[in-house]
Amino acid sequence: MDTSGRPDRRTVLAGAFASVTVGLAGCTTKSVATPATGPSSTPRPTTPAAAFTRLMEGNERWVSGDLQHPDRDPDRRQLVAQSQEPFASVLACIDSRVPPELLFDTGLGDLYVMRTGGEAIGPVVTGSVEYGPMTSGTPLIVVLGHQRCGAVEAAYKSLRDGKPLPGNLQAIVKALQPAYEQAVRQGGADPVETMARDQVTLTASALRSNRDLAPLVAKGALAVVGAYYSLDTGKVEVLSGEPR
Ligand SMILES: [Zn+2]
Repeated sequence: MDTSGRPDRRTVLAGAFASVTVGLAGCTTKSVATPATGPSSTPRPTTPAAAFTRLMEGNERWVSGDLQHPDRDPDRRQLVAQSQEPFASVLACIDSRVPPELLFDTGLGDLYVMRTGGEAIGPVVTGSVEYGPMTSGTPLIVVLGHQRCGAVEAAYKSLRDGKPLPGNLQAIVKALQPAYEQAVRQGGADPVETMARDQVTLTASALRSNRDLAPLVAKGALAVVGAYYSLDTGKVEVLSGEPR
């Protein structure tokens, strides 16, 4: 993995995003080479593969019930109070049963988390996903869909029946339309399940190839993983983009 390139990118982006980080009070990241470590802190993964491994190990603990609840104490709160350096950005659904920090058994300051209905994206969400990788070298993005997603099911029925959802809910339907169309082409016994998985892989693919993130992916500094969460078992299954 390209760790040697990270300081350079950070130096460049620290300048380019100086006004952004100053403007977003409370969202500041600190462009320092020293990882946030301390007596109560687990060393931060710095490569896509290491970050991915950290998340999947946490998910294994979530599945087994052997949880560590790492870095959630007052010491950790103080350690990250002045700056943060999350090792992954997770885009997940708003579903109350799919909280990334819990199902990956992570601590305070470990993750940037974006949550929208059905992982629907638009410019604001995409910008939020890009924030960590582009300003502070976050090495991993995970797009996390899930089993029995109500947002996907509602969008599926709306598009199938030609009945728009009320108010702003229709914006979610529109955002999920490409996944709907792909699922319809694929067919299968459970089109809503297929659509939920297609929404993950299409979204991950779009992020992986977008203008600002593709260069980071190309040089090995960033991986974009598509993943799927089982409500029944608690297990995260990788659908695409697993870093080697
Ligand atoms: Zn959902």
